[in-house]
Amino acid sequence: MKRIVLLGASGSIGLQTMDVVEQHPDEFEVVGLSVGQNIPALRQILRKHNIYTVCVQNKEDLPNLQEQYPDITFLYGDEGLEKLVTIEDYDILVNALVGFVGLYPTYKAIETGHDIALANKETLVVGGDLIMPLAKEKKVHIYPIDSEHSAIFQCLQGNHHKDIKRLIITASGGSFRTKTREELEHVTVKEALQHPNWTMGAKITIDSATMMNKGFEVIEAHHLFDIPYEQISVLMHDESIIHSMVEFQDHAILAQLGTPDMRIPIQYALTWPDRYPIHVGEPLDLAKVQTLHFHDADFKRYPLLALAYEVGRRKGNLPAVMNGANEEANQAFREGKIKFLQIEDAVYNAVYQVGFNEVHTIDDLKKADQAARQYVKVFIEDLKEANE
Ligand code: MG
Repeated sequence: MKRIVLLGASGSIGLQTMDVVEQHPDEFEVVGLSVGQNIPALRQILRKHNIYTVCVQNKEDLPNLQEQYPDITFLYGDEGLEKLVTIEDYDILVNALVGFVGLYPTYKAIETGHDIALANKETLVVGGDLIMPLAKEKKVHIYPIDSEHSAIFQCLQGNHHKDIKRLIITASGGSFRTKTREELEHVTVKEALQHPNWTMGAKITIDSATMMNKGFEVIEAHHLFDIPYEQISVLMHDESIIHSMVEFQDHAILAQLGTPDMRIPIQYALTWPDRYPIHVGEPLDLAKVQTLHFHDADFKRYPLLALAYEVGRRKGNLPAVMNGANEEANQAFREGKIKFLQIEDAVYNAVYQVGFNEVHTIDDLKKADQAARQYVKVFIEDLKEANE
């Protein structure tokens, strides 16, 4: 029996993780979890599962919950998350939080010797240079849940690191892939949220449309697999059937294929090196798919992808600045405060205006994150004034 702590249980990845757990009740048990403010979703989960420790975002939710579920230990806020990942006796942390907020709990869980199944890509984008050495020191495994990284991880099984020539990360191009840059001027939030292949949370769907998400995945791959940026490429692939590939020194390319269903990488992260049956969704039928399309990634069309390579190479605080600026700008776009292309402006300007600093601690990363967010807030205020 694998004992799991799940962060972000009410989000898209969190709910699909619960789905995987419910399919294998003799193999998996969720002993602790966190939800943000979605208390109805928490109650749904508690109807079916015996959870020992639960962390919510707001202290105000505690009295009611404690009264209704007297046997559960309730925690709240950032401190609660830290307690949840360090105190609880468990085997693996599934981190399905979205954003910078996911970094610290991963760090604490590794510090206390827990394996990680990582869906929170920001953890490695922002803190890869601190997280990976710590994981090595603590002899902790980090299993990727991001579909591209799961694919690469699967292709690498039974192969040697020294034989890798190139990682090929596939990209659908997101909801605006058929639009020119001119056409992007006036696109709406609703249009941006229509991803052609995947059903995901709102933040990541917008990140897919800007390809910031793919940029993050390049940085994430660099850290996870210890491969230089020169050997990581992005290949546009319309159907999201090939989830990524690895090219080896002998020019052989291995690919992992499947339907776009996150439960497959979630389950593999929990069962590695074994594979369990999966009872949801349809298996991939290539005769039905018939054709797969590929083309080169256009860095002019997707400037945030280009920026991610640059920032990844320069390291220090810049990945944290890029991520923090993107989180603010992404949210501002969803709230109708800025236009789609202004997300790019905000992130680019933040990276160049905040500037490079070295990073030695998690606190340095927090400072970089805050500086970026502050920069974008002012940037948005200035835009508002210019329009008035
Ligand atoms: Mg992905």
